[in-house]
Amino acid sequence: MSENESGDGGAPRQFTPRPCPICAKMSVERYRPFCSKRCADVDLQRWFTGSYAVPVVEEDRSPDDDDERF
Ligand SMILES: [Zn+2]
Repeated sequence: MSENESGDGGAPRQFTPRPCPICAKMSVERYRPFCSKRCADVDLQRWFTGSYAVPVVEEDRSPDDDDERF
């Protein structure tokens, strides 16, 4: 085994605190890149509300059936 760990693509074993993207506090290793579970949840909610703004109402009827009435 080689102990050459000077690569950039490797997984860093050390945790470097970074500002939380939600509240700008220092993040913790457990909830990184957030400072707490609360901020992680906030980010998750943003994803859901942002990506899935469409209500969960699906149309069962197919547009092909409507064509026959014409
Ligand atoms: Zn935070």
